[in-house]
Amino acid sequence: MEKNRRKFLGRLAALSGIATMSAIPGVAHAAATKVKDIRLSSHSGYVRLVFDLSKTVDHSIFTLEEPDRIVLDLKQTTMTHGMVDRVNSHSLIRRIRSGIRNGNDLRVVFDLQREATPRSFVLGPSGKSGYRLVLDLHSDKATSSASKPRTKRTTALRDVIVAIDAGHGGKDPGALGKNGTKEKTVTLAIAKKLEHEINRQKGMKAVLIRRDDRFLRLRQRIKAARRSNADMMISLHADSFPDPRARGSSIYALSVDGATSETAKLLAEKENAADLLFGDVSLAVDDQMVKEVLFDLSLTGTIQSSLDIGDEILRQIKHVNRVHKKQVQQAGFAVLKAPNIPSVLLETAFISNPREEKKLKSAAHQLKVAKAISKGVASYFSRKAPPGTWLAASEMDYTVRSGDTLSSIAQRYQTSVESLRARNAIHTTSLNAGQLLKIPVS
Ligand SMILES: [Zn+2]
Repeated sequence: MEKNRRKFLGRLAALSGIATMSAIPGVAHAAATKVKDIRLSSHSGYVRLVFDLSKTVDHSIFTLEEPDRIVLDLKQTTMTHGMVDRVNSHSLIRRIRSGIRNGNDLRVVFDLQREATPRSFVLGPSGKSGYRLVLDLHSDKATSSASKPRTKRTTALRDVIVAIDAGHGGKDPGALGKNGTKEKTVTLAIAKKLEHEINRQKGMKAVLIRRDDRFLRLRQRIKAARRSNADMMISLHADSFPDPRARGSSIYALSVDGATSETAKLLAEKENAADLLFGDVSLAVDDQMVKEVLFDLSLTGTIQSSLDIGDEILRQIKHVNRVHKKQVQQAGFAVLKAPNIPSVLLETAFISNPREEKKLKSAAHQLKVAKAISKGVASYFSRKAPPGTWLAASEMDYTVRSGDTLSSIAQRYQTSVESLRARNAIHTTSLNAGQLLKIPVS
């Protein structure tokens, strides 16, 4: 009986595929699809949700764990406020929430009691029914093969990857402190703490370019960052200057034209001394000029991002160390010339300043620096997470209404005031009606 029903549905779904395709392209998306009703029914082994629609719809589904959730995204779709609250309760579904995403898309989140596998398909008009989106939540892992051909696969969301490059290493000790502290040792210690801090945050993964005392050419560092598909690279260094009074942290982002200040230029020369190179581009063209132009073009997109990341880190580092330069500096560091990977170089402090040398050696201070960098990174990705990542997908838009407070919104969406603040880079206590907030799906 069950099998026959599935077969029938499978056939229906196949038919609807044709119906969907025959819809006039372009016109189909001119106006939003309306969700007219949501119906829930229980079956053995699965729960079925039918969304009655005004017309066909583009949709995607993904699952989240701990706690188990299923997220359904409907492109260009609207739904009456409160409709999800009218859906019958069910032992598998703890709660249903909905929100707007990207201005016009609808997101529906199902909070589950336990893990479930979603299967979905769109049905075309038939008899009294119009377009429908059918979402089956299978609570057992085994799903019948009969329902497979027309179903949509869930998308796996990746973590954002942060490459951490501890400066120098092996035969290249970097700068030396008056008391013998080596830059390469300090940078590795901070790198490892930063790795830990980043990995603690959901949706982020750190990759260490070197995790021991080894010498790596700049070219190898860039290659390693690329191999790991890094979304961002942070190079850690410690500054030195003949005058022992020089102190503070500085952050550098790549500049196509090279240094923006004389100091930046000198610094770039110093840091590049170990292995000078002009980027690391392998383009399938022979013309040197074309190569350089393409190289520059591939860079321009990342410079703004690099400056943006630098800004976020600087904002945090201010709280743990004096800032040597108030703005993100631009310099032509070779290590920063990793096309398409926004990169920053952080001079954590002056190792040539005995007070800062002592700080740099202290595990407690190293941890503070790592935490500050990690906060800056999180803040950047809360706004600029690349598509396809968990961070980019795990949020919905919310327009603030008068009377809303951060804590009332947090409570309604089962999140914390802290993460609302972090997601939206909110530093004040008051909200304005009409303000758009990103709500993490938690
Ligand atoms: Zn260095």
